[in-house]
Amino acid sequence: MKKRFVYADNAATTAISPYVLEKMLPFLTEQYGNASAVYSKGRKARTAVETAREQIAAALSCSPEEIFFTSGGTESDNWAIRGVCQAAKGKNHIITSSIEHHAVLNTCRFLGQNGYRITYIPVDSSGTVNPDDIEKAIAPDTALVSIMYACNETGVIQPVSEIGNICRKHAVPFHTDAVQAAGHLEINVNEQNISLLSISGHKIHAPKGTGALYIRKGTNISNLMFGGAQENSLRPGTENTAAIVGLGAAFENLSSDMDTNRRHTEKIRNRLESRLSESKRISVNGISGQRLPGISNITVKGADGEQILLMLDLKGICASAGSACTSGSSEPSHVLKAMGLSDADAYSSLRFSFGHLNSADDADYIADTLNEILRKL
Ligand code: PLP
Repeated sequence: MKKRFVYADNAATTAISPYVLEKMLPFLTEQYGNASAVYSKGRKARTAVETAREQIAAALSCSPEEIFFTSGGTESDNWAIRGVCQAAKGKNHIITSSIEHHAVLNTCRFLGQNGYRITYIPVDSSGTVNPDDIEKAIAPDTALVSIMYACNETGVIQPVSEIGNICRKHAVPFHTDAVQAAGHLEINVNEQNISLLSISGHKIHAPKGTGALYIRKGTNISNLMFGGAQENSLRPGTENTAAIVGLGAAFENLSSDMDTNRRHTEKIRNRLESRLSESKRISVNGISGQRLPGISNITVKGADGEQILLMLDLKGICASAGSACTSGSSEPSHVLKAMGLSDADAYSSLRFSFGHLNSADDADYIADTLNEILRKL
């Protein structure tokens, strides 16, 4: 088999798209003005920042004043959770799920060590939370519900609209980490009763280190950082104009091609899973849930996931074991364990994640290579 290069780790990060880069370049070179400056170079930067805000607001169906630029998904999650809890004086209960990204889990853990009570909602074997469990957990002192939109490890989409309805009924702010979902799924923060929503640029072909937090008008939230008057004095620091322009352009680009991209990546993922179903050792995690189009998380019974990853790498294939954010740690995936997998099966799991730059041939190459590796092992 001829060696190729296949990037199948788009849930970990993505390449900056040529369209995004082209939009960013002037702001990395001649248009370097500070967006707060009054002269024309500054005003050009300001216009670009506000255009990006409008592009993101259009993608989420909110108003531009409700979008605040951050350094990425981690900061947005931290700000949403800590900011809302700090502002909700006298309320010290947070509801989240057992499958959240560590940006949410470790923020909740920190608050748990500082007087907050945290309820972790479990998931079923498909990796989905039950909205009824959230409603039952809401108490008079609940400051926030934080449930991810779609899981970074399995791609399983959570019942966000139902959770939003429940939170609205009980007047509890609802935060969702949409880092994996934004740009891939239609999101309407008003119809879905979302109060706060985190996004990240590097998952959608914009640069790393850029993101945003949607904050519904009227939501009580404290600052995470203090400094200048940028972002309506809520998130200080000189705007990273080029990165912000990239984030806006990525949303603009993906929003216009969302259906085409979804069908394309779903076809590749389904092709891979259908090819892999020939092996009795392989099962797909989260297959009975609703999933993002591009993510496939599989368990190869009895195999060492890390070892397979290294062998795939030798064949030019980039994938990850569970989640890129937890690789390097020897812990089995908390997501797969929450879905009922044993430690051994969690260690035998791999994640392939596709984007619009992948092709059906990539799925075939991965399937052929994996089958060859399994014959050798
Ligand atoms: N939330 C989810 C669901 C993620 O997948 C990630 C990144 O993997 C993050 C948050 C963190 O985002 P960032 O890398 O932009 O800090």
